[in-house]
Amino acid sequence: MIELTDVHKSFGDHHVIRGFSASVARGEVVCLIGASGSGKSTILRCINGLESYERGCITVDGVTVDCTDRSIVTVRTHVSMVFQRFNLFPHRTALENVIEGPIYVKGESRAEAIDRGRALLARVGLADKEGAHPAQLSGGQQQRVAIARALAMQPRAILFDEPTSALDPEMVGEVLEVMRSVAEEGMTMLIVTHEMAFAREVADRVLFLDQGVILEQGPARSVLTAPTNPRTQDFLRRVL
Ligand code: ATP
Ligand code: MG
Repeated sequence: MIELTDVHKSFGDHHVIRGFSASVARGEVVCLIGASGSGKSTILRCINGLESYERGCITVDGVTVDCTDRSIVTVRTHVSMVFQRFNLFPHRTALENVIEGPIYVKGESRAEAIDRGRALLARVGLADKEGAHPAQLSGGQQQRVAIARALAMQPRAILFDEPTSALDPEMVGEVLEVMRSVAEEGMTMLIVTHEMAFAREVADRVLFLDQGVILEQGPARSVLTAPTNPRTQDFLRRVL
């Protein structure tokens, strides 16, 4: 579904991604972990064309993401992204945020988008908030709107970049619960997170990124409970 082969990316002379190869199969939930600055966000941004890359190859469902307009429109239609800071439109209601993409990017009718948007807001527990603006919602509620918005595009995969790390602790659980239900329904998900308990329970596989390369990967349980690489061990000792 998502394939990265020997991807390299630099910012100026800072070689940030240094030969990243990985794949995410359809229906698979993969967590990407690693220290701050290791390149996790950069990888997600390269996958959906928010950043270009210099070498290697990224494909989504067989379509190469090469940062031409055409490939970017294709990948954005099929791959949604959920950000740490929600990135909702502040002057639009929850429902308007959710229906925007389906109407303007996918060309759905307004009536159809509203029907599905309402159903999605109900699904993330926000049926009564469709008319609220982001500023009237808690961080956890805003992030659940952002997940509903991602789902509204009926994507083939969703990328999550630390979706809970900007939240007050008491709101983390409600967002992880929604993510867990999305995973259980078979969505393909690539998740950057520091929530190791969540990763252990929900992820099929975990990738440990260190200075732009994957140092260790495998089933969530083995990487998180019995890592073999000393750097993975050291990282997990610090975050657990
Ligand atoms: P964090 O856990 O703090 O979010 P990360 O693993 O997501 O970290 P990235 O944001 O991918 O790390 O950044 C990797 C490296 O690339 C960092 O050294 C960062 O400073 C650098 N970097 C990221 N974006 C840019 C940019 N637009 N211009 C220059 N350098 C950048
Ligand atoms: Mg990041």
